[in-house]
Amino acid sequence: MIVAANFKMHKTRKEVKKYLEELKNIKFNGVKVAIFPPQSALFEDKIIGAQNAYPAINGAYTGEIGLEQLNEFNIKRILIGHSERRHILGETQEFIAKKFEFFKNEGFEIFYCIGEPLEIREKGIEAVIEYLKGQIEGIDLGYEKLIVAYEPVWAIGTGVSAKIEQIKKTHAEIRKFTSKPLLYGGSVKLNNIEEILSIENVDGVLVGSASLDVNVFKEMIEKAAECKISK
Ligand code: PEP
Repeated sequence: MIVAANFKMHKTRKEVKKYLEELKNIKFNGVKVAIFPPQSALFEDKIIGAQNAYPAINGAYTGEIGLEQLNEFNIKRILIGHSERRHILGETQEFIAKKFEFFKNEGFEIFYCIGEPLEIREKGIEAVIEYLKGQIEGIDLGYEKLIVAYEPVWAIGTGVSAKIEQIKKTHAEIRKFTSKPLLYGGSVKLNNIEEILSIENVDGVLVGSASLDVNVFKEMIEKAAECKISK
């Protein structure tokens, strides 16, 4: 079972440090935990991953960080393809695939996000799968250190998670393309995490808003540990 936290553009370095210290007080009981803090709050800690990086060692890429900066913190995990980078920051599939290839070649563990917007979901599951196929173009779905996160755009940060049946069907379809761990993300909260983790082909969750409170996140890890035992 995997429980990952995406802080997005929340928390300062000082706050992330405190968060990590508080997390050290609990046992993960076999749950794999990953934290993606903002770039200014990266730490040398195997729990940490980068929300983003440019696919180059270093260079003239104003505002970006690259491999050299990640190496400084011994970071070997990265989030690629998040919907906010696709839709707000304009990353194309071609660029995302290039980024994937670069960090794959560097041996990074890659949390690769896919997910459809509402207008596609409203057209039905076939349209959703077609859309998701476009988001896996150029991506090596057999990469040994790959973790796929299915995050419907309409469920991210809205407080409205996808329905259990929708997650079940979509994950079953994605499973046809990859045997790698599949996470669900999109308004996962304390009150729905157990139900979501009990769905077939759901190997964990990627949590945004609800992860910002360390006590809530700790409880989520505990619940995931229990689900792991009963699954
Ligand atoms: C996310 O951004 O990856 C996410 C899942 O956010 P939230 O949990 O807030 O919907």
